[in-house]
Amino acid sequence: MKPAPFRYERPETLDRALAALAAEPGAKVLAGGQSLIPLMSMRLSSVPLLIDINGLSDLAHITVDETGVRFGAIVRHSDLLEHGGAREVQPLIAAALAHVAHPTIRNRGTTVGSIVHADASGEMPMILCLTGGSLTVASTQGRREIAATDLFIGPLETSLEAEEIAVEAFMPALAAGSGIAYDEIARRHGDYALCGVGAVVTLDEQGRVTHARTGYVSVSETPVIVDVTECFDEGQVDERSLTAAGELALGQLDPETDIHGTSDYRAQLARSLTARVLRTAHEDARARGAQKVSA
Ligand SMILES: Cc1cc2nc3c(=O)[nH]c(=O)nc-3n(C[C@H](O)[C@H](O)[C@H](O)COP(=O)(O)OP(=O)(O)OC[C@H]3O[C@@H](n4cnc5c(N)ncnc54)[C@H](O)[C@@H]3O)c2cc1C
Repeated sequence: MKPAPFRYERPETLDRALAALAAEPGAKVLAGGQSLIPLMSMRLSSVPLLIDINGLSDLAHITVDETGVRFGAIVRHSDLLEHGGAREVQPLIAAALAHVAHPTIRNRGTTVGSIVHADASGEMPMILCLTGGSLTVASTQGRREIAATDLFIGPLETSLEAEEIAVEAFMPALAAGSGIAYDEIARRHGDYALCGVGAVVTLDEQGRVTHARTGYVSVSETPVIVDVTECFDEGQVDERSLTAAGELALGQLDPETDIHGTSDYRAQLARSLTARVLRTAHEDARARGAQKVSA
């Protein structure tokens, strides 16, 4: 199918893009177009004016320092995935991005666009939450920062106002003593996950778990983060604690049945992936700790 008729503008400055967005009710930002264009082509979305932000070269940055990773609104998934500094400072980004769609879509789709699209089946909205990140948005009135915890308010719905453009996302650095993991089950590589789970585990100097958090993709209407620290009695990782973490998480999830899988199947995936990623994140934390000692 073809989209309904729409107008198209490609402003050269952010101020012009913001003015155009404020002036036209229903206008939408076009980033990578990998979600918006299919929706328009299937006539699930009708947009009077598309404001293409790909000419805004100020939004093409990836900046890494000891506090974390900042990336602009036109940074492609593939650029972020391949960025060595980002991978080092916050390894969850690359671990999850490797599962986002296929290379052709990653070459065009933007990570900020994916966050703003707020699909609970998308990896990066959950990763923004799991890392405790934030989004900076701009309008003709100025800028504000939205914490990930305040961003995702419903299925495909964020707390951005209609006249705001997301200019940058920030994901804090991995804390000292921590390890990460991300894994998912999809019908085919590159498909949206039936269930995806990320984990961050932090150890003390004796190797005991002091914090453990998991994040979930495709098993609720918005990304869900669960603090599972209480499952690790005396900070020990064993079958009992990993099983308990899966059960604790399931109590906060709402897996649904759709054409791809039943709710029971998704629940079982969430259970087993929780144990798997926590075990891997624990091993990762130990390995990073050992590397630091030998350096
Ligand atoms: C076949 C296929 C498979 C895919 N598989 C996956 C997958 O496994 N995992 C996954 O996470 N994603 C997947 N995607 C989606 C892909 O990651 C998209 O790139 C992403 O969801 C949207 O990014 P985009 O830059 O293409 O945004 P667009 O499609 O341009 O925009 C999406 C929405 O966000 C808004 N928007 C975008 N940028 C901004 C901004 N800076 N400020 C304000 N509003 C903005 C747009 O107005 C629009 O409403 C898949 C897509 C396809 C076509």
